[in-house]
Amino acid sequence: MNQPSHPVLPLPWQTIKTVLLDMDGTLLDLHFDDVFFRQTVPQAYAEKKGIPFADARAEILAVYKSCEGTLAWYDLDHWSRTLEMDIPRLKDRAAHLIAIRPHVVPFLDKLKTQRRPVILVTNAHPYAVALKFKKTGLDAWIDTIFCSHDLGHPKETPGFWQSLKKITGLRPEETLLADDMESILATSQSQGIAFPIHMAFPNSQQPPRFSQRFPSIIDFREIMPP
Ligand SMILES: [Mg+2]
Repeated sequence: MNQPSHPVLPLPWQTIKTVLLDMDGTLLDLHFDDVFFRQTVPQAYAEKKGIPFADARAEILAVYKSCEGTLAWYDLDHWSRTLEMDIPRLKDRAAHLIAIRPHVVPFLDKLKTQRRPVILVTNAHPYAVALKFKKTGLDAWIDTIFCSHDLGHPKETPGFWQSLKKITGLRPEETLLADDMESILATSQSQGIAFPIHMAFPNSQQPPRFSQRFPSIIDFREIMPP
């Protein structure tokens, strides 16, 4: 396992007024999404086309690669059209794997007790957000949700953060963002977000991988507000 080169110092919680949290891989176990895209979808595609799973998987992974980091990648309707399958219904099939990551609930409880607004910022499709809320009850802790589909830009691009700042009036110098994707943290930082936190252990079935660019944590116990 690699080690973080930017240790998490005690965060200045007296300065941090707004907490932005990613959903998949940050609050929820990325294992679901991983299984869904790498197994459930290729399996259904193989059945539909009558081709071996390995061929279906290779074909699907190539299609994924062509739109990584774009809004289309996160758009279930796009996948339904491209693959000619009912992707939202397939999600229901794997929904038993949707789970809140360990130590998330005490962190959210603490933020709620301290009356710190919790804003969910996600690239997930609104259907996926609704399904995940239904399975986990996560919405009980969330004050506001911003989906990239509504803002018209994925979190990987400056447009998302510019729109978010305009709509919410948040002060980036007083804002924390926890996310499992370095590219997203880097873009948010370029837009002034002062406290980027990298989630090093997004998938419970894979070993942690620490960021070498951002403070990187295994779970929220490491940044619990006092
Ligand atoms: Mg994520």
